[in-house]
Amino acid sequence: MYPGLTKGASETIHTWGTDDQKRTYLPNMISGDWSGTMNLTEPQCGTDLGLLRTKAEPNDDGSYNISGTKIFISAGDHDLTENIIHLVLARISGAPDGMDGISLFIVPKINIKDDGSLGDRNGVTCGSLEEKMGIHSNATCLLNYDNAKGYLLGPENKGMRAMFTMMNEARLGVAVQGLAIAEVAQQNAAEYARDRIQGRALTGAKNPDDAADPIIVHPDVRRMLMTNRAFTEGARAMALWGALQIDISHNDPDEKTRENADDMLALMTPVLKSYLTDQGVEAASRAMQCLGGHGYINEWGMEQFLRDARIAPIYEGTNGIQAMDLVGRKLPRKNGEVIRKYFAMIQSFIDDNKDNDDMEHYCTLLDKALKRQQAATMWLMQNAMENPDHAGATAHYYLNLMALVSMGHAWGTMALKAKNMIAEGTGDKTFLENKIKTADFFFNHILPETASLRIKVEAGADDVMSLDAQSF
Ligand SMILES: Cc1cc2nc3c(=O)[nH]c(=O)nc-3n(C[C@H](O)[C@H](O)[C@H](O)COP(=O)(O)OP(=O)(O)OC[C@H]3O[C@@H](n4cnc5c(N)ncnc54)[C@H](O)[C@@H]3O)c2cc1C
Repeated sequence: MYPGLTKGASETIHTWGTDDQKRTYLPNMISGDWSGTMNLTEPQCGTDLGLLRTKAEPNDDGSYNISGTKIFISAGDHDLTENIIHLVLARISGAPDGMDGISLFIVPKINIKDDGSLGDRNGVTCGSLEEKMGIHSNATCLLNYDNAKGYLLGPENKGMRAMFTMMNEARLGVAVQGLAIAEVAQQNAAEYARDRIQGRALTGAKNPDDAADPIIVHPDVRRMLMTNRAFTEGARAMALWGALQIDISHNDPDEKTRENADDMLALMTPVLKSYLTDQGVEAASRAMQCLGGHGYINEWGMEQFLRDARIAPIYEGTNGIQAMDLVGRKLPRKNGEVIRKYFAMIQSFIDDNKDNDDMEHYCTLLDKALKRQQAATMWLMQNAMENPDHAGATAHYYLNLMALVSMGHAWGTMALKAKNMIAEGTGDKTFLENKIKTADFFFNHILPETASLRIKVEAGADDVMSLDAQSF
């Protein structure tokens, strides 16, 4: 998290900063001598940043005095680096209420002299460290700003736009956090399942010389390990696809191709953040289950994975908000052109491969899943305008449906590559065959969940909203 936040903050200064700001902050942040943070949250405002109260008073020299309280600031104070560069959302005095009056500021923990050397302490102090469920090695701080010197980053009152440079990047980083914890938990679970002996295989002893068989012979343990494997390998492919879109959107010589990659990335960012982190928790929990009681006690380290994984669906915009972002902002983007391009991308994979005998089964199942997503999209378009609660109540299901279609595309692509390489006689045969077996599991056991997700989207908001608030 420490280098991740520093990279996000430096990227934001690189995108929005003046030449002078870039010269002042970036070399030391990129070298790792200084670190970075993002300061949005306040006691009365988390999701709803329009309620933000931190104030910025302009000074004659062009700087601002920043005052207010920020809570839950990751990597907010520590002595790992010589300086900490806080990016802080605040409201310039006289600015409008709500989101349109928020600006972004650079606030160094230690003031920087004109010659670039470190000066005195700025007016920002750590009021307390949060005690929390997991990620204990990250300092989550309450920060008090008391007339701290700050410098406007990007245009006045356009702070949310500038902060989104950091948040979009951080959302993808958090998505990988979900995946990474799932992966390490899975590796531990697989090793344990090969080693722990308990009970006999249903089909007869596999290890007759020993008192019992290793638990990996039991189909229920296999189900958990295969589910995790299908998730981690599929999620890794999705995360790499996202990374590729970033590279294309920055570097492709063709403007249209750059724009297309940017659109796809914007569409998929909430899907990656939400699905990979929700499933990261599920995967860590399944991995713990493979260890039985030994997973629950802390000696084996499995409970730490589950605790550490649990924050990822919460911070960087809760997963509920990611789903609302997908349905409310990303689907209608450019009058629906972006989601149509996404459908066309999946459809062309199906059309290109459905006549290939090796791929027919995958293409049939992916086609069904895609049709379910298209039907759910149509249902939302027809119903959410008349009652916005239909979008709010079903956005979570819709996001998961889209994630499974995307993962189906990723698994189809990997299976095709593996089959081609086996036919050519290249690569590691066992690795490639295992890819295909895991693809089979994904298509037969996980992708069909798209059927129930479509039904849940089309059930709408009525049952979700039917009780009085007092009845809960
Ligand atoms: C360990 C940790 C580290 C963090 N690091 C940082 C950091 O570095 N910088 C920073 O600025 N913040 C940080 N945060 C804050 C974090 O981003 C917020 O906690 C999060 O965005 C949710 O805000 P909240 O806690 O106020 O919850 P609330 O906004 O009160 O939300 C509570 C629940 O209501 C739901 N909800 C709220 N509004 C809506 C709506 N309009 N529609 C549907 N559902 C809604 C939410 O999804 C959630 O389930 C951190 C938090 C933690 C716990």
